[in-house]
Amino acid sequence: MIPGPIEFEPEVLHAMGRATSSHVAPDFIESFGTCIELMREVWRSPKGQPFIVAGTGTLAMDMAAANLIEKDDRVLVISTGYFGKRYKDIIDRYGAKTTILEANVGEVVDLDAIEIELKNNAYKALTLTHVDTSTGVRVDPEPIAKLAQKYNCLSILDGVCSVAGEEIKQDDWGIDVVLTGSQKAIGVPPGLALLVASEKAIQVWENRKTSVGSYYSDWNNWLPIIKAYEERRPSYFGTPPVNLIVALETSLKIIQKEGMETRVKRHRELARAFRAGLAALKFDFLPKSNEISANTLTAAYYPEGVDGSALLAKLSKDGIILAGGLLPELKTSYFRIGHMGSVSSNDLIAVLSSLERALIELGHPVKAGEGLQAFQHELLTKNLAIV
Ligand SMILES: *Cc1c(COP(=O)(O)O)cnc(C)c1O
Repeated sequence: MIPGPIEFEPEVLHAMGRATSSHVAPDFIESFGTCIELMREVWRSPKGQPFIVAGTGTLAMDMAAANLIEKDDRVLVISTGYFGKRYKDIIDRYGAKTTILEANVGEVVDLDAIEIELKNNAYKALTLTHVDTSTGVRVDPEPIAKLAQKYNCLSILDGVCSVAGEEIKQDDWGIDVVLTGSQKAIGVPPGLALLVASEKAIQVWENRKTSVGSYYSDWNNWLPIIKAYEERRPSYFGTPPVNLIVALETSLKIIQKEGMETRVKRHRELARAFRAGLAALKFDFLPKSNEISANTLTAAYYPEGVDGSALLAKLSKDGIILAGGLLPELKTSYFRIGHMGSVSSNDLIAVLSSLERALIELGHPVKAGEGLQAFQHELLTKNLAIV
């Protein structure tokens, strides 16, 4: 139950274990082509250009920066935690002039502050983190993307902890790049960097004044390959991670079968019920309100007087693996529970019941069943309109 790698569907793992074919075998070309088509559905970007490259989510961040940012470009980084700061580090490498707007822990950056920056400076691009996995804060990308359009600025969304879990409508919202890594809500073992670029992003890249500084990331190398696979033609630049791509096809088909709308709703309802369960056990959350809380993970402070590592150790005895804190300044005061991908209410009930027992054993004053009751009540209220 960590925020990535998540628990993978058995069919996905089974697909990973199939005999590795040639990267130009007809079956594999078909799988790769299908992945490209299905990515457009998950991203809600019928006009977008998908890229599938071996690497991690960080490579997807780096690839967007390498192809779209040139020396001395102005870039606005909107940060809600650890991964926002990472984006600034990445963009700084390309010689851009970066400005970072940082939210307080558990909050989002004010829209007005973003607009003032965009109005006063000619930014080429802005970056934002949909769900910052260090804080569990969820940003609403739509109004920020609309502001970016108003000021003729590219928008790059780090969706590593949101794509295939949170609502995203890339084309409708006008986001220029939406990127992720395979091991989070998209449900494939680590190793794939995935992104979809808008037509405008591709134009900006085509009109660069200088060549792309990273050979491996350069879209000049990847675009012909992606286009060839989509047209079901053999092609080669760097050997694709065959097994991971077959696994991606399997996972994308599972996602397509569930339907993005249903999937987003499932994540939202389970996350709300889970937070209600934790709140009944007197946990406080890093995000300051429900409106800006992620549906893919929850970040909660340890209750006062409870030894965090002892708590996590007790859960791990029940086979429940949670993640510690990630923000350096608060690392030991909070923990994180991932609930994305194939997560079900049963998974979250197991977490809550184990947490209740562990808290009681550690002498924390909660009553067994309180968290579970709140969880059940919240789910039933939402699903059956029982008050
Ligand atoms: C996990 C994560 C990353 C980094 O992804 P890696 O695959 O670990 O490189 C970047 N951004 C966010 C929001 C993440 O959750």
